[in-house]
Amino acid sequence: MAARMSPPLPVLFLGHGSPMNAIEDNAFRRSWQALGAELGKPKAILCISAHWETRGVYVTGNERPETIHDFNGFPRALFDVRYRAPGSPWLAHRVIELLEGIRAHSDPARGLDHGAWGVLQPMYPDADVPIVQLSLSSLQPGAWHYDLARKLAPLRDEGVLVVGSGNIVHNLRMFRFNDPTPYDWALRFDEEVAEHIATGHHEGLLGYETLGSDALLAVPSPEHYLPLLYVLGLARDGEPVRFFNDNVASAISMRSVQIG
Ligand code: ZN
Repeated sequence: MAARMSPPLPVLFLGHGSPMNAIEDNAFRRSWQALGAELGKPKAILCISAHWETRGVYVTGNERPETIHDFNGFPRALFDVRYRAPGSPWLAHRVIELLEGIRAHSDPARGLDHGAWGVLQPMYPDADVPIVQLSLSSLQPGAWHYDLARKLAPLRDEGVLVVGSGNIVHNLRMFRFNDPTPYDWALRFDEEVAEHIATGHHEGLLGYETLGSDALLAVPSPEHYLPLLYVLGLARDGEPVRFFNDNVASAISMRSVQIG
């Protein structure tokens, strides 16, 4: 039996943006550093990242997950990052247990992708908080992910910090590297999503494909959006909601959310 802690740990959705945010000293990275210091060290972290898409549901089962450099065209320094946080067989097992009925599996070979270590390394630079990643079965509809997350609710009382890592608006094809001026449609979509989150109207966010006329541009593929639905699925009635890093550059929203 895991010891129950009170109050429940908050849940976080972190907009991660460029992999360079993991090593550059900028406002995003500093916000993640501050967050880790403020929250203190949880017993373990469960991370749902945009960068692990699967058919079926998996958790990382390795006790020493490797650092995956799943990007191209970045400086050597980014490829040199090794984040040596341990895995957690206990948490991997617990997630599989809670997802009984969905039949999640352990993947002993999988390491941590940059959606996970890019934000968790700044939060916990000592690499002493065990981390498990939960994969995204990204062909499933939004409501399916939300319902899955709800099954994980006990984790918040068991000392586990759940972190979704993605971006509410993420369109790399439209992204202008030389001009951060936000597109109108990106601002509109970001604002609309924020309003639904702030008012606890989660149902309006599950069918993101049809969320206003900007949805196809803001969410051209679901993987960066879906981690948000896990965080919302873990929210409890009446919990405080805090937004931070709420800015949009070109076609990427960095808006982040803390619930609880
Ligand atoms: Zn990403």
